[in-house]
Amino acid sequence: METLTFDGIVLKEVLYNDNDKILTVLTANKGIVSVTAKGVKSIKSKNSSAVQLFCYSEFEILKYKNQYVLKTATLKDGFYGIRGDVEKYALACYFAEITAFFATSENDETDVLRLLLNALFILAKDENKPLWLTKAAFELKLACVCGFAPQFDYCKTCGAETGTTSSKYVYFSFADNEIVCEECVSKNTDNTADFKKLTLSVSFAIQYVIHSLINRFASFTLDDKNAPAFCEFCEKYLIYTAERSFESLKFYYSIKKQLY
Ligand SMILES: [Zn+2]
Repeated sequence: METLTFDGIVLKEVLYNDNDKILTVLTANKGIVSVTAKGVKSIKSKNSSAVQLFCYSEFEILKYKNQYVLKTATLKDGFYGIRGDVEKYALACYFAEITAFFATSENDETDVLRLLLNALFILAKDENKPLWLTKAAFELKLACVCGFAPQFDYCKTCGAETGTTSSKYVYFSFADNEIVCEECVSKNTDNTADFKKLTLSVSFAIQYVIHSLINRFASFTLDDKNAPAFCEFCEKYLIYTAERSFESLKFYYSIKKQLY
């Protein structure tokens, strides 16, 4: 039997028996791991506060065969600001579900862990950041960090850099994962329907997220005129990349109060 110690975020908890949980935990070095946590629902458990959903904790684990069994958990950050607000809670559930979907097991997922920690920090502690911006930027950045970045920097047909021509729009093809400039798309009217037309402002916001440092992924602003198209694109891009929908997203829309 081996003892391991790692830091991680609880992405999911499944209750079983009366007092036990199976936790899905995102770690830096081992990616997603499944941890059996016995007795943590009991009020006598010293580990219970560190194994709640969204808790960032240090886990001491006993490993035998292919199973991880919790020995102790020490809370590093509970992100309690999320729990008092139903809309933030629903959004954090969605972040946890899409992270669990995109992150892998037995691989280094340091960047994904850092991204989720930054996103939870914003939700819990940054009252000034609009939720729509955090949601959209997280959706896009998660896809990028997991190896699915779209290409927005230049036209795939003529190579013109975005913003350097007279074009006011870019045209994104989900099938090709690339943009075409206005001039090139107008030359090929047959397939215009396959493109998503986006303003330069939206394109620049998308380029910002693609190229930003992980801890700055949501450090930008976008005016009200362009925000809805940016949000629509980021959500659609994530769903298109995942090739599935997410229950937690439906739940988020069922309770959300914000505009976009
Ligand atoms: Zn072009």
